[in-house]
Amino acid sequence: MTDIVIKGGRVIVDGTLLEGGSVHLRGNKIAAVSPGLLTVPGATVIDATGRYVSPGFIDLHVHGALQRSFSDATIESFDILTRFYARYGITALQATPSALPLEGMRRVLDAYRQWRDGKYRGGSEILGVHLEGPYFSYEQRGAQPPAYIRAPGPDDLALLRDNLDIITEISLAPEVPGNVALTRELSSHGVVVAAAHSAAKEYEILPAIEAGLSHVTHIYSGSSMVIREGLYRVPGLVEVGLTHPALTVEMIADGKHLPPTLMRLITRARGTDRTCIVSDAISAAGRPEGERFESDGAEVVIQDGVAMMADMTCFAGSVTPLGRMVYNLMMLIDMPLLEAVQMATAVPARVLHIENRKGRLAAGLDADVVIFDERINVDKTIVGGEVVFDRSVWKEE
Ligand SMILES: [Zn+2]
Repeated sequence: MTDIVIKGGRVIVDGTLLEGGSVHLRGNKIAAVSPGLLTVPGATVIDATGRYVSPGFIDLHVHGALQRSFSDATIESFDILTRFYARYGITALQATPSALPLEGMRRVLDAYRQWRDGKYRGGSEILGVHLEGPYFSYEQRGAQPPAYIRAPGPDDLALLRDNLDIITEISLAPEVPGNVALTRELSSHGVVVAAAHSAAKEYEILPAIEAGLSHVTHIYSGSSMVIREGLYRVPGLVEVGLTHPALTVEMIADGKHLPPTLMRLITRARGTDRTCIVSDAISAAGRPEGERFESDGAEVVIQDGVAMMADMTCFAGSVTPLGRMVYNLMMLIDMPLLEAVQMATAVPARVLHIENRKGRLAAGLDADVVIFDERINVDKTIVGGEVVFDRSVWKEE
């Protein structure tokens, strides 16, 4: 069993700092976290003096990078993406395909199963598949490919039931026929069900919450808002998401999808303990400004630090890895570093019900650690006790 001791850093433990503390990793678990200097005979020592030592970042919603996406359904793309995101401190992520035809969904699920059962490849861990669609509202589809938006049919249900062990989250529109029953069935098997790309009114959302809906995907993007029916105002997904006690929310903190005022509103309404950040990064991430290419069958252009549909109808997704978004929270809405880190670590772990394994530095949890400076520039990323990214020896592939 290999031992690593990370010493001398500013260790982030549950939103507080242990200055000069140590973290002892043994094999793929955290063996101990100490406010002082731990000495372990035979251990590899990592000196983190002047750096933060943090639980690894967890991205619940990421589609791709480097002109690759999880929808490619190839082992090669899964490898390239997990190595790319490890460079930004992401130790765990959900492989997130957008709306696909049934065959495409099957290919992604099969590819993930193959990837997971293959040899360890030295990047972020993939927690499972987050299906973002296709059971969405047509009118709130945003950049989701319109041809694939549909209500769940018998073939869909069969495919989902065959893959309950690897589907960790599904985003759906609660008002689409069949989705409340689907929410009840999937959530009873431990799948996190989130509302997204939805035109629902409050009275259409509440039955889904009763059925097990627990999260709101990229709030404000593809989300219904308050409308008037006759004389009366009816809240939409945004207002229910910001207030309902059974829900957590995620926000895309690239500084483009949401202006700072909305990011403040979300974190004040929900608290930073119920708001996580996600990248929603698409295949444009890691590519240069001005580049044009196809994503999910539509032409996309990278402009002003975000991916836009080339017809300028809406954003296509972000190009910002989660680690950079932690810094955005600090810069754009004056979020203290420790709170911003929680929104990328402990909160997403709770949203996914994996807080007993991930999201904190504590003995017994997975040895997923990221070491970074005060601007969240990542020095080292450790996944399951293995250093998968080390800036001092890293070369562009
Ligand atoms: Zn997305």
